[in-house]
Parts: sequence; C-alpha cells; structure tokens
Amino acid sequence: MFAIHDRSQCLGPEIHPKRGARIAFWKLLRWLDACEATKKAKSQPSFGGMVAEDVWPDLHENLQLHSRVIDLGRRRITLAPLKCRYVALSYVWGQENFAQLNSKNIAGLEIDRSLDGLKVPATIRDAMTFCEKLGERYLWIDSLCIVQDTTDKHEHMRSMEAIYRGAVLTLVVAAGSHANHGIPGFKYKFDPAPAVTEIQGLRLVMPPSPSFNAAVNSSVWNSRAWTYQERLLSNRMIIFSNDGIYFQCKHGNAQGNMYLDPHDQLRPRAINDSKVSADDYSLQLEERVNFSVYTRIVSEYMSRRLTFPDDIENAFGGIGKIFGIIFGGSELLYGMPLSALAICLLWYSEEPLERRRGSKAPDSNSSRFPSWSWVGWIGRVGFRHTRNIGDRLISKVSWLDPLNKLGPLSNEHFGPPERNWKGRSRWFRQMSIENGDHYYIRRHGNPAHWFLYPMEPFFHNPIPIDRETGILHLRTDLQNLESSAI
Ligand SMILES: [Zn+2]
Repeated sequence: MFAIHDRSQCLGPEIHPKRGARIAFWKLLRWLDACEATKKAKSQPSFGGMVAEDVWPDLHENLQLHSRVIDLGRRRITLAPLKCRYVALSYVWGQENFAQLNSKNIAGLEIDRSLDGLKVPATIRDAMTFCEKLGERYLWIDSLCIVQDTTDKHEHMRSMEAIYRGAVLTLVVAAGSHANHGIPGFKYKFDPAPAVTEIQGLRLVMPPSPSFNAAVNSSVWNSRAWTYQERLLSNRMIIFSNDGIYFQCKHGNAQGNMYLDPHDQLRPRAINDSKVSADDYSLQLEERVNFSVYTRIVSEYMSRRLTFPDDIENAFGGIGKIFGIIFGGSELLYGMPLSALAICLLWYSEEPLERRRGSKAPDSNSSRFPSWSWVGWIGRVGFRHTRNIGDRLISKVSWLDPLNKLGPLSNEHFGPPERNWKGRSRWFRQMSIENGDHYYIRRHGNPAHWFLYPMEPFFHNPIPIDRETGILHLRTDLQNLESSAI
C-alpha cells in the first residue's frame, strides 16, 4: 500500500485537448499517482544495499524548499511550510510586463485572499485554476514567489535545482511565446495547425501531428535557456502544447488523448522509446561517464536563447549544482567544473561565435566572461571527443597559483592525475561493455557513478584562476612556456 495524495477534494472537470477529442481529468491524476507509487516501490533497497533509483545520493537527502509558494487555499503568498508538497510552473515570460512580487507589494500579498485582487497574466491564472482542480494546495511560480527587486532573486537563481526537483509535479505551458497566452484547454481550445506542403504543384494539407517532438520540442518554451534546466530537473511534467496534453516522467511518456499509462509494464514499447526520453532532455547520471553528460548538456544549453546574455551562468545554476557533485564536489567557475578544467578547455565552436558582452560589463568593448570558457561566447559549441580509451588520458598542462607567485598547483585537482598519483588506490578502473571505454568508480562510492578519471574530492583548494580578472594561469609542457589566457 502506498500513501497517495488525498484526491477527495478534486473537482474532476474535463479538459478538451483537441477538436473532437476529450480527455478525462482523472487520467492525469491517475498518471501522477501511478508515477509517485512507482517511485516509492522502486525505493526499496536492492542489490548491495543500493537504492534502485538512487542517482542523487549526495544531493540534499532531505530536500527542503526555502522559498515562498502560492497558497491556493487562502489565495495568498506564503513561506513554504515544512515538507510542503507543491507544483512548479514552467512557462515563457515573453517581453510584456506583468504583475510580480516585489518589496513594495509583498506585505499586501501575504494577506488572505489578496491574490483575488491581483491581475495576473492568463498563463498564471490558468495554472492556479489547474492546480486547484488537481487538488494541490501549493504552487510555485517564479514571478510571484521570488521577490524580484532584492537579493532574494540571486539566492533563488542558485537554488533552482531544489525548486524543480522538490516539486511533486511541474506544470509546463509549452504553448505560445508569452505569459498572457494562457493554457490550452482552458479559455481557448486546443487548435493544432495542419501542415501545408506543396509537391509538384499539388497543395497537400497534412493532418496535425500530435507527436511529442512536433508539439513540445519545437515550441518556443523549448528554445529558451532558462526552461532547459526546468525540464531537466523536473521529476514529472504535465505539458500543455497547442497540439495536446502530454505526460512525461523518468518512466516514460504518454499523450493525453491515449489510454496508455507510461507506468504500465505491458505498454507498447514504441510509446516509451519515443525521442522524448533522448539524453538531451534527461539528466540521466546513472551509468554515464560524468564528462559525457556534461558535454552533451552544455552543447544543448548553448543552442538555446537568452533574453539577457548576462544570465548565461544563472540559467545554468541548477544544473551546475548537480555537475559540481558528479565532479567530486567541484565548484563550477564560468560554467566549468574546476576538477575537470583541463578537459573542459577542449571545447570548440560549431558555428561563428559572438563574444558575450553583458550589460554588467564596465564598458561595451569588454566582457565580464573570460574567452577561455564557453560562457564567454554566444553560439553553438561542442567538445573534443574525450574518451579514456586504454587509460591513456593524461594532461600536458601545469597549473599555476595566481595568489602564490604563480607557484605550481596539483594536477589531480584540475584534470587527469599523473600516473604515479597515490590517490589512484582509492578508485576502481572499469570498462564499459557498450564501447570498451575505461571509466572509474570510487571504492566506497556509488558504483553507478562513473568518472572519466580518478580525482581528489574537491575542497576549497587554491585555483589557477584569478577571480577578480578571470585570467587563467597555466604552463604547457609541450612548449615549456608559461602562458595565461583571458
Ligand atoms: Zn513516472
């Protein structure tokens, strides 16, 4: 028996996903409950005492939301109660201004029923209605739960991973390009546009495609940099697109107008094998080499758009926190885990890049982002194919400490260690049966966590980067020349 959230208060209306088709609201509830039940069922200890779904072993064992939430019962903003169960919203802001939480209106919005007098954009209004109908009391929406004109905003940017991972469900509005669009199926009906194509003079009208890729992956929502981490970090999502409703979780995905449950073991494979669960859109860490996960996600992230170029590190903050952990507790500086600095520098441009000059730079000709990191540029990037074949991955770089007269720093803190490094005894070398690559696991660590090479746990070591100027200090063994990169 599993303790399922009390649905007794659900109103159970019907939503109209497409012309001529109807979806019963209970189906969304059933998928949500089935997913939560599946997670609990798999959390029983399995082989070797490891937990089957334990892919986040070092990450906030008891995740707590330190944020405000919308209390839909009392129609006000409030600090999230202890162990608060809540839904998070992911949507596109757009260019238009709308009501937000700030230092002037916060006291008023903490009063019961104060939200009834606030004019909010259609997407937010519909999201509140949807959550009430789901039987959920608390909803997190960035514009109304983060005080937008204080340091609260910067603190939240660093904890987005906790917000989306802590939510029981993320409600995604992948329709439209602004917050006034509303959720399809509420005030306006789903209306997928037919595709028109011309072949040899014949004008053909194709029926609307309800596929996940066409509906969700090609949406404006999915082109934004901020929404990438919201998608990656969410446990489960109900996604509204113009074409229909979709449910996605780590167990699979389903379209709202079908009666297939992604948690049903007997479901046709085709449903679960859709490209929706492609690696670009999942933060699958288990049995993946840490550096491979990093390069794939950075490449996808850099293909997305940011309204404010300065946000390049902020919109990566939640994912970055997880990368810090899978890179041995490393700090991420300018988007790069310091413990993998030597190989992270091997990025390259996949198209002509433009220098990232943010509004916070002291003058228009300079950038506050160094050129040696991908965060310093706008455009698509890739990484050299770095595989540890035959354990031949070595670094030809020596790092220098700018705070200590450019004295030498230990290699093993910033890249593949020397062959005679004593710390190797704390690691097992393994070989992937998939491609024959070598990878490492910690002797006393989670065997599902694969490292490209053995590394020291990262503490607050001296680093080869001057934090004030962004200058990186290193010496190359090949030329035996000291060099620095800005
Ligand atoms: Zn699930």
